[in-house]
Amino acid sequence: MVEPLIKDYSSTGRKGYSLPELDVPTTETESLLGQEFIRKEGPGLPEVSEVDVVRHYTELSSMNYGVDSGIYPLGSCTMKYNPKINEDISRLEELVNLHPYQEDNQVQGSLEIMYSLQEDLKEISGMDSFTLQPASGAHGEFAGLLIIRNYFLDRGEERTKVIVPDSAHGTNPASGTMAGLEVVEVESNEKGMVDPDKLREVVDDQVAALMLTNPNTLGIFEEEILEIAEIIHDAGGLLYYDGANMNAIMGYTRPGDMNFDVLHFNLHKTFSTPHGGGGPGSGPVGVKGFLAPYLPRPLLRKEGIRYYWDFDLPKSCGKLHAFYGNYGVMLKAYAYIKALGGKGLKETTKNAVLNANYLKARLSKEFELPYKKSSLHEFVLSGSKQKKKGASTLNIAKRLLDYGLYAPTIYFPLVVKEALMIEPTETENIFTLDNFVEKMLIISREIEKDPDLVKNAPHNTAVKLLDEARAAREPDLRW
Ligand SMILES: *Cc1c(COP(=O)(O)O)cnc(C)c1O
Repeated sequence: MVEPLIKDYSSTGRKGYSLPELDVPTTETESLLGQEFIRKEGPGLPEVSEVDVVRHYTELSSMNYGVDSGIYPLGSCTMKYNPKINEDISRLEELVNLHPYQEDNQVQGSLEIMYSLQEDLKEISGMDSFTLQPASGAHGEFAGLLIIRNYFLDRGEERTKVIVPDSAHGTNPASGTMAGLEVVEVESNEKGMVDPDKLREVVDDQVAALMLTNPNTLGIFEEEILEIAEIIHDAGGLLYYDGANMNAIMGYTRPGDMNFDVLHFNLHKTFSTPHGGGGPGSGPVGVKGFLAPYLPRPLLRKEGIRYYWDFDLPKSCGKLHAFYGNYGVMLKAYAYIKALGGKGLKETTKNAVLNANYLKARLSKEFELPYKKSSLHEFVLSGSKQKKKGASTLNIAKRLLDYGLYAPTIYFPLVVKEALMIEPTETENIFTLDNFVEKMLIISREIEKDPDLVKNAPHNTAVKLLDEARAAREPDLRW
């Protein structure tokens, strides 16, 4: 049953509050507001009791699905379970009651946390300098490309192109365009990797940067990364590392050691912040030393035992966020990194890769696996075989909802037809993984027997199959 609207519980005169008798003089509203602002009729608010309200919203909240209710296997998004203690820490009174306009010397503890987080990110990534300002991965990409642009402007070089592989996340070409660069796509080879020979064909002295995530969005490690870096560097360009897949390599290898020059982290993916609702996030950007002068203003520095904001950065690419970025997300990442330590972060990576490979081994017996090369923390199946039998990847995703599970990322990356991109993350145990496999296999069998059943899914959810384009263009939000 679909929970009715709160107004459907309304009954004239029912109240959800009780207020004491007034003990101060009263004044007519008209004399305070003026007659023209007084409503002719009441606002028509629902008249309900406290228990009506509590039950209504409790019911609504249980209709929701989140990472606290079950697996959230959205490839590329890294929707891991986030320890609640990090939420508590990010809400400590001493930390949330600070004001960003307070003098540096009054907030040394907070600055130390941010500085220490930057130091940890340097160690994890192999970069030399960091800013915590950007509010997301995409924002970090934009910042990184502005840094690169300013670097070339400063050298008097006019470079107008950014190379992006065809398997890249959509934010990569978008950030390139936003930064005023021309986006050049480079095709992946049959192994799902960037082909150095194809890369050579598109590289020239106009190239400012190559943007790459490693492992890429197929979950495959770009083995030729050192050769790729050499090709770009020889042409005078720089390498940008999209750090969204950091949980696949953390503790084992570092973008800095792969010769990347600039990178962003997605703290909300790799380091524990729920981000299903679209934020808040944090996308710190790290650079090699020669790019540090171009980082956003201000930079957090340490002199002796004192931390301070340095605004005196004439070559900076500017300011990108109010104050210093999303501090609450930084606190959660800091708590997470400190709690796990180096060993724990490495373990995280190992389990993320193990879980993904377990799912891949089981599911690829039933679903096509177009790129067979060994993968790390995520992998991409194709629903092509099932589509021929009458139900598409979209239908499979909707049918999973009937079984009380969240669906994987679908139709991305674009290099795989009918893509099902699965990232279980390290926080799922084998029972959860087996349950996911079992439901996927059941659905595939259903498609053999009764494709229409899957095609018309979901059947058990409050909202059935929507015409997605129409739902977006003609939203019906009235009550
Ligand atoms: C999530 C993601 C991004 C964008 O990060 P946001 O924090 O969502 O802006 C970029 N690249 C890849 C590979 C991603 O998975």
